[in-house]
Amino acid sequence: MSYEILTIPCLADNYTFLLHDNATGTTALIDAPEAAPVLAALKAKGWTLDMVLLTHHHWDHVDGLPALLEHYSPTVVGAAKDADRLPKLDITLNEGDEFAVGDLKGRVIDVSGHTINHIAFAFEGAVFTGDSLFALGCGRVFEGTMDMMHESLQKLAVLPPETMVYSGHEYTLGNAKFSLTVEPDNAALQVRVKDVERLRAAGIPTVPSLLSLELATNPFLRAKDAAEFAKIRTAKDNF
Ligand SMILES: [Zn+2]
Repeated sequence: MSYEILTIPCLADNYTFLLHDNATGTTALIDAPEAAPVLAALKAKGWTLDMVLLTHHHWDHVDGLPALLEHYSPTVVGAAKDADRLPKLDITLNEGDEFAVGDLKGRVIDVSGHTINHIAFAFEGAVFTGDSLFALGCGRVFEGTMDMMHESLQKLAVLPPETMVYSGHEYTLGNAKFSLTVEPDNAALQVRVKDVERLRAAGIPTVPSLLSLELATNPFLRAKDAAEFAKIRTAKDNF
């Protein structure tokens, strides 16, 4: 597998990503917060938009799609179970389903919690997590239960540790400050927080992040059970 992934900042703090299969030239966008930065990136790279993969139905992940459809005719892919509240889907997928972006093989992971039927897209070496797992954080539990979100994060935790995590928002600085209140003595976390502060001061994205680093420093991923996760998530909601 040979691919290139572009990280594109959108709106106030969203990220979208272009996944380009080098073998076939096929390009997929993961979520569509807004069109203009995506159109500019496609033009700069000389790529065509062939697919759009949607993680969940929130407006800041789908509202850019209509304007993209004025320029390209991508295959739109999303969760079968959420088809009624996602934009019109050409391919519907369920947990465990495999799909292809050119020669790249992807797999669907149901990561419900932030929303029900939120999905992640896992490829060799890269996972697109939307608003489930963030760098040093996780999405707010709006529709699911704490148990459900904990279970979803643990599905991501067992991916190969060298996997890069492409998450949907730049929330890392706030997450870092909170994480230190949970694990003030975690040396790996202390080092990472310094790195995050330096990157953000320079305006550099902290996404993607390495899964092994999340496993060492992300308190939401490190919670030993659903009860501990719930305690940490509730504390973050009130932070
Ligand atoms: Zn969301």
